[in-house]
Amino acid sequence: MSIADNIKSLKVETGPKVTLLAVSKTKPAADLQEAYDAGQRLFGENTVQEMVDKYEQLPKDIEWHLIGHLQTNKVKYIAPFVSMIQSVDSLKLLHEINKHAEKAGRIIDCLLQIYIADEETKYGLGFDEAIELLRSDEFVTFNNVRIRGLMGIATNTDNEKQIKEEYYELKTFFDGIKQSYFRKIDTFDTLSMGMSSDYKLAIEQGSTMVRVGSTIFGSRVIKHWKNN
Ligand SMILES: *Cc1c(COP(=O)(O)O)cnc(C)c1O
Repeated sequence: MSIADNIKSLKVETGPKVTLLAVSKTKPAADLQEAYDAGQRLFGENTVQEMVDKYEQLPKDIEWHLIGHLQTNKVKYIAPFVSMIQSVDSLKLLHEINKHAEKAGRIIDCLLQIYIADEETKYGLGFDEAIELLRSDEFVTFNNVRIRGLMGIATNTDNEKQIKEEYYELKTFFDGIKQSYFRKIDTFDTLSMGMSSDYKLAIEQGSTMVRVGSTIFGSRVIKHWKNN
């Protein structure tokens, strides 16, 4: 199956209500161009360097989403063009994004990354921390960021029941946050959950955006033992 075929069948599967983000990290620009030619416009990268490199090489109507941990000192490199930052995990980072968005004369869409997995990952806000951020005095002063919703990464496990529960919890939290802090704000509309291994479960639980890499572009593992 080609990249174009993969996108086509994924779009059929995810349906018109779920947005497909093509996660292109580690893949060459030519692969992204192939996806672009098949109509894909939303691409996800997990490092600033790779996103900037590909931004420079590829068509300018691509919407770039940062999905990996973002260091505050690197925000300036992507602020002029990034479409959405899905990995906001601190007030300090949001402050920095706001600052550079203002400099660039933009409003940058952001998702709060919520920690839902049952593993020792470093990044993401706990439920309480997310609420604390939204309630902070500083948050209301940010005029150049727009919180569009939440992002979460489930535990890397074969246990479907566990993944389902984690996504259910995130969806429930999303609904609560919308009700409490964004009731009249239509643009709080994005719940980014689901990757290649679990996007079906995520959609069942209410995902509005799936981040799919290997199912579109193939495995990221370099197979040294292959001859070609
Ligand atoms: C790499 C990555 C994905 C996509 O992973 P696949 O298993 O290749 O679909 C999704 N979300 C995040 C945050 C990632 O880093």
